[in-house]
Amino acid sequence: MNIKNKIPVKAGVAKQSPPEFLGDCFAHSLIFDFALMNTDIQFPHGLAMTVPTHWMEVKNPFQLKNYFMKFAPSFYLKNIHIRCAMFLLFSLTTTHIYAQPKKQISADTALFFDSHFHLTNYVQEGISIQKFLSIMGTTTGRSTLFGIPLQQQWSYSNTGDFAPTYYLASDAPLYYYSFTDAYIAMTYRSLSAKDQKRFDPMITGFNPADMYAADHIKRVLLLFPGVFSGIGEFSIHKEFVSSKIAGEVASLTNPALDRILDFCAESGLLSILHNDIDMPFPKSGQDPYLIKQIVDLFRKHKNTKIIWAHCGLGRIVRPVEEQISFLDKFLADPTLSHVCFDISWSEVAKYIVRTPATIKATATLINKYPDRFLFGTDEVAPPDAEKYQAVYRSYQPLLAQLSAEARYKLLKGNYTRLFDEARVSVRAWEKAHQNDSTVTVPISTTSSGTGNQD
Ligand SMILES: [Zn+2]
Repeated sequence: MNIKNKIPVKAGVAKQSPPEFLGDCFAHSLIFDFALMNTDIQFPHGLAMTVPTHWMEVKNPFQLKNYFMKFAPSFYLKNIHIRCAMFLLFSLTTTHIYAQPKKQISADTALFFDSHFHLTNYVQEGISIQKFLSIMGTTTGRSTLFGIPLQQQWSYSNTGDFAPTYYLASDAPLYYYSFTDAYIAMTYRSLSAKDQKRFDPMITGFNPADMYAADHIKRVLLLFPGVFSGIGEFSIHKEFVSSKIAGEVASLTNPALDRILDFCAESGLLSILHNDIDMPFPKSGQDPYLIKQIVDLFRKHKNTKIIWAHCGLGRIVRPVEEQISFLDKFLADPTLSHVCFDISWSEVAKYIVRTPATIKATATLINKYPDRFLFGTDEVAPPDAEKYQAVYRSYQPLLAQLSAEARYKLLKGNYTRLFDEARVSVRAWEKAHQNDSTVTVPISTTSSGTGNQD
């Protein structure tokens, strides 16, 4: 496990003598914060400690706490001398404590990792990756990186000299723009190795109603190995958008989507799916048929890791009646444990922080299922850090009501777990298939002809 960050001891405890301090670390779980980010733990008076390797296998401070509680009977913890002795003994038998001159150490200042970010817009324009890096600064540790799979056509017959840049600005159709994947891959490759580590590029330029979509995804991986962590955000049912796309309309029941999700299971690609939970403005009592379809789809693809974007909400697709209890039931269902939710998009933030009751209900849900929610901005080519961080700021009332564990996992921990896992699996898949042809000639069938003709 490659953990490089080092955090200085908190100022408030630095005045204590080392034994008391160590005892207090153990008793008050301050040590768990260090174990989260450090290989070396720095103590006052120039002492430092190398964290035992098996601690580092504990994925986060809360698992570490459980680990301690399992092996340290509570009566030991009540006596500070025994606490200190036990801690020191434990450390000495598994590692070494040594004097070390004070050195400059940098703190992890990231507020969040962004699980949902668009570098470009509906006409494939956006900000440069260097600009985005400067916006991320030290406050955004890591981010996903994707464009938008759809291009808004500038139809002169429809809007004349007006060049639409958003899908709501024209009645002309949208079409799938596969070049976005090459653009994102080349953008990522323009970065230094150090900066690349901060990004998880995603493949989006496929038509989910096309049985060949999975082949496109595979081709992108083979053409740009070492780049992508997942697919998406791609949409099946999206208010105002789905019906505007040229060609066959996408559907949750289309076998083309099964092929895509099957390939994600095979390769380890993480999938970010946008699918509205209901149709806009449903009539009272209208069957929310999309819920049944999407749950069936998820159950069919148990081995695919999926993030359901925006908790299924939209600009006008409101929370279904009893949305919280629906989510509660969904999250408790073991057949759906491979599905997480992101709370990205300013529109979603509006629903969640609308009233003290909505904040409390959402916080209770996230506290109950801390492994299943991810923070994201859903910003599209933001002009500056002020705009980029707006969604994060608007969630402050929610964050204030989360447990330390749930807050950490929402903002960073779940991102790290899911995307790191995807990186490892996808790199392994690429390695195993590196000799496969990057340009697959479709196998001809009696109905498709001989394949290689003009
Ligand atoms: Zn989005």
